[in-house]
Amino acid sequence: MVAVTRDVVIIGGGMAGLAAAWRLRHRDVVLLEAGDRLGGRMRSDARGEFWLNYGAHLFPGPGSLVDGMARECGLDTVPVTGSMMGIAVGSTLLDHGRVETYPLRLPLSVRDRITFARAGVKVQRAVARYHRLEQRYDFEDDRTFGEFLGPLPPAVRDIFSCAAHRATAELDELSAGCGIGLFALVWGGKGSLIARNLLGGSGTLPMALGRELGERARTGCRVRAIRADGADLVVEHDGGEIRAHQVIVAAQAPHAAPLVASVAERAAAALSQLTYGAFLTVAVETRETTAMPYDDVYAMATPGRVFDMFTNQAHALRREGPRRPGGSLMLFAGARGAAALMSESDELIVERFLDELHELYPHTRDVIAGATVHRWELGNVYARPGRSRLQPALVGPLGAHENLHLAGDYFAELGNIEAAARTGLAAAERVDTRTSEATHA
Ligand SMILES: Cc1cc2nc3c(=O)[nH]c(=O)nc-3n(C[C@H](O)[C@H](O)[C@H](O)COP(=O)(O)OP(=O)(O)OC[C@H]3O[C@@H](n4cnc5c(N)ncnc54)[C@H](O)[C@@H]3O)c2cc1C
Repeated sequence: MVAVTRDVVIIGGGMAGLAAAWRLRHRDVVLLEAGDRLGGRMRSDARGEFWLNYGAHLFPGPGSLVDGMARECGLDTVPVTGSMMGIAVGSTLLDHGRVETYPLRLPLSVRDRITFARAGVKVQRAVARYHRLEQRYDFEDDRTFGEFLGPLPPAVRDIFSCAAHRATAELDELSAGCGIGLFALVWGGKGSLIARNLLGGSGTLPMALGRELGERARTGCRVRAIRADGADLVVEHDGGEIRAHQVIVAAQAPHAAPLVASVAERAAAALSQLTYGAFLTVAVETRETTAMPYDDVYAMATPGRVFDMFTNQAHALRREGPRRPGGSLMLFAGARGAAALMSESDELIVERFLDELHELYPHTRDVIAGATVHRWELGNVYARPGRSRLQPALVGPLGAHENLHLAGDYFAELGNIEAAARTGLAAAERVDTRTSEATHA
């Protein structure tokens, strides 16, 4: 027996679902999140002045939706001022200077330098084309990024593979357009979607939104099915059922697909074809009392290592005043290597990551205070060739009564928090308009 009928139920409490709930907070809304906390792939824990980060860490700048939501909650982001395009190959660490000079400065053979420089120029030209486009879904959608780059010697291939792992994919998996989009994002500088850090850690935003939403956001509440009932929808969850005029499904695509199947079959089929790769992160707490060689570095690609990226999460606190003792790093691996290592124990993962961290920065040897592993099986969504053909089935109101809406980072060719939030907002605006029309009818 289903008692009241809600205006809207939102399924999933990641950035997409939270942005939708935030926009609809003046309505009769309830958000159901399966996990024990809000935020999905945004997650961090406070450690004194520092924070340990496990998921998304780079925020978009002022004028973005996410930045606006953070400000509304009284939170502040700061620009990342340290190097974001460092690279370490063997014992050579490059953390300053233009990327165009890397082929000359890395320990590569003359032949490899030439191939690397040529591939780099090819990507740069494609990024320029990418920036000129308004519609990007079908850009370079018919071949893989590996095919776009062409044959590469192993040392150069390692470098581009490491970059692709940031999209949780291998070179022979992601589309050329997605690979080019990834470089556009990383080279985007201050105006890009990944230019800032949230003071206090990225998890403070979902926590603050959750506090404001109060009882409208429920955790530990997995949705099992959605069924149509007349012009309404009934959401079956662990604790019972809720009837709603409209539903926004903001779960990751593999979870969303079975939920929407009985109401929007074509969308379910498209959702089940979207591709995700794994991320494995190790958050490292350090206790040094003196400056570290990476104090001016935010992110460093580490091709050929067990982790693909070294990041310095304490960087946001190093901008002014005396250097605070201690620190927080996040090391992460993406794609097949991450998926394979994930089944190992935390102890083994930590040991392997820390061994390589010490090789990279020997100063870290005696200062490790703790290390926490986080496994993201659905780490990020990336476009495979042919991805653009799935888009029409996902867009707009769905179902016979046009009362089902999808939101999630998978609408973008590469997942990010701003894309996720915008899809939540777009779904919420459709819901809001229909709710107003129904109220005034
Ligand atoms: C290690 C890592 C680093 C990243 N770095 C960045 C970065 O620096 N910048 C950036 O912009 N992006 C980054 N990303 C990507 C970013 O985190 C995601 O694109 C974004 O957070 C996705 O938001 P979402 O709401 O679409 O999905 P999610 O955050 O995955 O939220 C979906 C939610 O739905 C819930 N759910 C699933 N099924 C059900 C169900 N049946 N019932 C109820 N709830 C359900 C899940 O528990 C989850 O909480 C990173 C991701 C990872 C993992």
